Amino acid sequence: MQEEQNSLIRQEKGELLAKTELVSRSVIKLLIREALKAMKNAYTPYSNFRVGSALLTVKQKIYTGCNIENAAYSPSNCAERTAFFKAISEGERDFAAIAIVGGKEGITSEFCPPCGVCRQVIREFVDPRKFLVILARSEEDYLVYFLEELLPMGFGPDYL
Ligand SMILES: [Zn+2]
Repeated sequence: MQEEQNSLIRQEKGELLAKTELVSRSVIKLLIREALKAMKNAYTPYSNFRVGSALLTVKQKIYTGCNIENAAYSPSNCAERTAFFKAISEGERDFAAIAIVGGKEGITSEFCPPCGVCRQVIREFVDPRKFLVILARSEEDYLVYFLEELLPMGFGPDYL
């Protein structure tokens, strides 16, 4: 099942593209490596659930993020939004992919999918039919989704 999802292809301008052709395998591995590094900076004294992310712009620049918890809980921020807000605040607007890793105590034995809030924030800034979400357990072990698959019928700026 997972392999089937990974091999999904999308028709673009008459060409069939595999997801891994939209972002090359070597770039995917680089993003995962950067996400694993960013996870080390996670500030998680309450849950100890550590998450790292690496966001790739269309111009191949990478912004990383980690989750940042707060004693009041609700001001906590996820790794994905940290990366997006860093990039947006630097003037970036065109994004290609994000890699996400995470787990209890930073052990990435399971895939760590983005929460609903992060899916919605990502939806604001990307074409859900093209933007890739890479869920990784290691550089060798990952799943690739279009945002559209993780947030079907998402509400975005194009509705307003
Ligand atoms: Zn989130």
